[in-house]
Amino acid sequence: MIGGQQNVFIFIGPPGSGKGSISSLCTEKFGWKQLSTGNLCRKHIARQTKIGKEIDFAIKSGKLVSDSLITGMVIDWFMQMGDQDGITILDGFPRTRAQAESFNELLEKQLDHLKLHVIRFGIRDESIIARLCGRYICQNKECQAVYSLLPGSALAPQCENVCDKCGMVIGRRKDDEENAVRERLEIYHRHEKQLLDFYRQIERHIHEIDADKSLHQVFEDFKSVVGLDLV
Ligand code: AMP
Repeated sequence: MIGGQQNVFIFIGPPGSGKGSISSLCTEKFGWKQLSTGNLCRKHIARQTKIGKEIDFAIKSGKLVSDSLITGMVIDWFMQMGDQDGITILDGFPRTRAQAESFNELLEKQLDHLKLHVIRFGIRDESIIARLCGRYICQNKECQAVYSLLPGSALAPQCENVCDKCGMVIGRRKDDEENAVRERLEIYHRHEKQLLDFYRQIERHIHEIDADKSLHQVFEDFKSVVGLDLV
């Protein structure tokens, strides 16, 4: 699947399905670029930018940030990247059909050198709730590395409560509390079908990954799905 062309991967999956962890492994091991719209949103809130307040309000009330705001952020990011070579993962974008349509238009009109691959991470809601109860995030908004304190997890930090990468304290996300997670899942499922329907309609193959497995196994499956199993 990975050829000489520049590639962009869209990771579709509920919160906690491992999109971010697989993206991080790809950036560490293969030098790919990762654009997490959730991380971008949290950076805006921390830096108290003009749009930070609007984003903060949406996240706190368990809602999605508006399509125009998110799509604008993604377009800016691609424009800043210019025609740099390499593979990009979009982690958490698009999340709605409107975002997928806008991004598709961008690919057709301005980024036609990019080849799009759609990856869907499937996992049961109950597994997600269990996972997110143990998820810890580096509180340094420039880092936001993800850890798990669940017994036996490959994502355990080396020192309790401290980020392995930057040494800052790690903590839970407010929107990872069980009620907030259930609400986010409800929103996710509402949009997922429309999103997948859109990609089927434009005849994009959707690569399915069973994300209800260990991170190591999901990474192996991902590599084999995208033709990197010899890496
Ligand atoms: P995440 O870290 O991907 O779970 O995103 C955290 C929150 O940021 C989400 O619950 C949304 O409020 C917001 N967000 C991130 N990506 C998007 C997106 N593509 N569309 C709308 N809202 C988003």
